[in-house]
Amino acid sequence: MRLVLVGPPGAGKGTQAQFIASHFSVPKISTGDIFRANVSEGSDLGLEARKYMDAGDLVPDEVTIAMVTDRLSYDDTGEGFLLDGFPRTVHQAEVLDGMLADGGHVLDVVLELVVDDDEVVRRLSGRRTCRRCGHVWHQDFDPPARDRICDRCGGELFQRDDDSEKTIRHRLEVYADQTSPLIGYYGDRGLLRGVDATGPVEDVTERAINALRRFES
Ligand code: ADP
Ligand code: AMP
Repeated sequence: MRLVLVGPPGAGKGTQAQFIASHFSVPKISTGDIFRANVSEGSDLGLEARKYMDAGDLVPDEVTIAMVTDRLSYDDTGEGFLLDGFPRTVHQAEVLDGMLADGGHVLDVVLELVVDDDEVVRRLSGRRTCRRCGHVWHQDFDPPARDRICDRCGGELFQRDDDSEKTIRHRLEVYADQTSPLIGYYGDRGLLRGVDATGPVEDVTERAINALRRFES
């Protein structure tokens, strides 16, 4: 299954991506995670990306597309993949279509996680991420047992620099301007499935997997 997850920042894409990818046995490819790993390593790509990420802007298409082209060339994507956070512009979507066509493939489905802006702000302002294992928590909706310590690995939790209220508002504008046109792009191609992403995480996962039933082998 070749799947794209779309939705505003904070919709729960990363949270759901791990469950959906494991259910369908495909690799989860999160462009935000790859950029953050590069920022932590201090690589050239990380130094370049960081300028845009901290401001809540999109990293330029040519940088992002080169990174995804490389990742999609790995052997583990042969039977499918789940893309989380890519594409984020119509140009990225067109390039992805071309990339897949070159290999004789097409995208199977695009799952949109639907939540309103107020919920997104609540989710992002309380998001806490583990520095060691990358697991995402929420200080009110899904708190770890010990303050600022990851239950899974004991790592330290941190708040992302781009999760300040001002940057969150800007990222929502960027989503509305540059990413939401993808909804029409994929809708016109008959690929879009919308899922209500409010309520408990397990309920959202169940709805998402139900919407993808026909791709089960
Ligand atoms: P995205 O990848 O779309 O930016 P995340 O998966 O990082 O979003 O989720 C953003 C925040 O919202 C995290 O703190 C996460 O724990 C929390 N969250 C995710 N799904 C839900 C949900 N269904 N209900 C409440 N909080 C959620
Ligand atoms: P995310 O973890 O998906 O919220 O992404 C964090 C940040 O990484 C975004 O705000 C962008 O700066 C950058 N980013 C992630 N994916 C993309 C993409 N497909 N195109 C451009 N920038 C991206």
